[in-house]
Amino acid sequence: MPEEFLKDQIVIAEDDPITQLLLKSTLKKWGFDPTNIEDGKEALELIKASEEPRIVLLDWLMPGMDGIDIVRRLRRERKDIPHYVIMLTSKNEKKDVIYALEAGADDFLSKPFDTEELKARIKVGLRLVGLHLQLKKAIKSAKRLADFIAHYDQTTGLPNRVLFTENIEKLVNEGRSAALMQVNIDRFKRINQAKGLEMGDLLLNYFGARLQGCFEEEEAVVARIAADEFGILIPFDDSSAYATDEIINFLYTKAQRIHARMAEPFPIDKGVTVTVSIGAAPVTCEMALEPEEFLRRVDLALRKAKAFGGNQTVIHDRKMEEEVRQRYQIEKDLAGAVAKGELRLFLQAQVDCKGRFHGAEALVRWFHPEHGLISPGLFIPVAEESGLIIQIGTWVLEEVCDLLSRRPHEDFSISVNISPMQFAREDFVEHVLSVVSDRSVSPDRIILEVTEGLLINDMTDVARKMNTLSEAGFRFSIDDFGTGYSSLSYLKSLPISEIKVDRTFIKGLPGDEDSGAIVRAIFLMAQTLGLKVVAEGVETTDQAEFLNKSGKVIHQGFLFSKPAPADEVIEYWLGRIP
Ligand code: C2E
Ligand code: MG
Ligand code: MG
Repeated sequence: MPEEFLKDQIVIAEDDPITQLLLKSTLKKWGFDPTNIEDGKEALELIKASEEPRIVLLDWLMPGMDGIDIVRRLRRERKDIPHYVIMLTSKNEKKDVIYALEAGADDFLSKPFDTEELKARIKVGLRLVGLHLQLKKAIKSAKRLADFIAHYDQTTGLPNRVLFTENIEKLVNEGRSAALMQVNIDRFKRINQAKGLEMGDLLLNYFGARLQGCFEEEEAVVARIAADEFGILIPFDDSSAYATDEIINFLYTKAQRIHARMAEPFPIDKGVTVTVSIGAAPVTCEMALEPEEFLRRVDLALRKAKAFGGNQTVIHDRKMEEEVRQRYQIEKDLAGAVAKGELRLFLQAQVDCKGRFHGAEALVRWFHPEHGLISPGLFIPVAEESGLIIQIGTWVLEEVCDLLSRRPHEDFSISVNISPMQFAREDFVEHVLSVVSDRSVSPDRIILEVTEGLLINDMTDVARKMNTLSEAGFRFSIDDFGTGYSSLSYLKSLPISEIKVDRTFIKGLPGDEDSGAIVRAIFLMAQTLGLKVVAEGVETTDQAEFLNKSGKVIHQGFLFSKPAPADEVIEYWLGRIP
């Protein structure tokens, strides 16, 4: 008995009724269900039409077309299917056998045939045909698997970016509109780092399933489109029914649902809670954009949501594009700014409680040949992102040292802002030391301003660099103090001599009670630790008075001096010293 899938694989092409009957009954007895054909041409058409290999018992002499022609054409016209052809004939000379095999037959059986021999020869055919069918099945399932891998995410089982993009394309091609969202798990990296990749994967799984659950009743597609990012496409029921503000409302309502659902703890590690950032944008066929462009837009909106601190939704708008364009332009032009001499060193004076000159902070300015003065608030973040800050920082430090070396006998120091990227450079210490020694400037005339953000980096490296520079005579100041997230313990363990109270705390003085309380607490702490306090952004006499009453303080603010070209500032203030 053959295996079930091989039962009806046999074709008998034979015109002699007696041989035909004999073959048929013998095969039926063995459990086959053969197809029977008497005409040569019909036999060829039938076999050719089959997509699966057959075992063909082919009579040499037949009406319409003889067996040799049939097998030749079969081999020529269906090279892809390995039919197993056994030629039946009363010719049984060696040359006939060779002739049939060369025409393309696989085997040869002389009439009258012995049933046992027939059985044995059919078995060989069955083995080959069976093998082929199994192989075909394996290839089919491998293809299915490859298709799954290409279109689905292995961790969550959700569609991946490829399939998601195809979905957007399909929707647009159908002339429909939808809400597109990109959801990112805030600080997912930390969960991965703290709890391990397995726990991270588990969270992604729960997260994906819950996200899908949020849109169960809708015809939405939820996909995992990057490591910790999910895409959602929610088609509108009737696109034409929505006005712009309704679409915005639609986006916010859906996003709100996600924020609310994701705030509930996930059942791992005794309950993990996360927040999410969402970028959203409408997708409509009228926009005539490529799917990747829609994805770029939600990504841009998502980056904005992240930059605002996360745990919120931002909807893509035109202003965002303008900002991107501007940033791009800045980055392009900034690359040549140092070489073209477009940077200027400005200083802002710092004064003591009696308004006497104490020192100054170096603040860089960029004079763009077309756009005029560009504020560091605009170009420093771009420089930090692109790495150009290294060049700019070097230029500022050299300018400051040049200025100090021109005034070797005057007793004032200059504060220089050091960006985290600059500080992280392996050669930072050597570089700073060489700049001062080349100009014979005493390091104690320079204060290096760093931000609290620096301190969450590799603390051993930070401490080593700070200690080396401090031993050489440099002083360190913590800029924008109070706005970072780090603990205060570093103030004791690192060689820090000054803190600069951020402008946001000074702004509310003296009226705002919270600001007042914070400022007083900072003074108390600074006094205990022996740190100098500089107040940033002092704009009114009331603020200055409040600060002077709170403790010993150095003022830096528009009330006393605005940033101005370095030499002017020095001339002015040194001229005022009695
Ligand atoms: P920062 O280091 O905190 O500098 C103080 C900022 O506060 C300066 O802005 C200054 O003009 C401004 N400011 C001072 N007093 C007042 C005031 O009374 N009222 C108000 N509203 N603002 C006041 P600026 O010059 O625009 O610089 C912005 C930031 O750019 C700096 O903040 C610093 O983080 C960065 N920056 C400037 N120059 C450099 C530099 O050479 N290197 C690096 N890495 N960053 C720099
Ligand atoms: Mg500063
Ligand atoms: Mg500051």
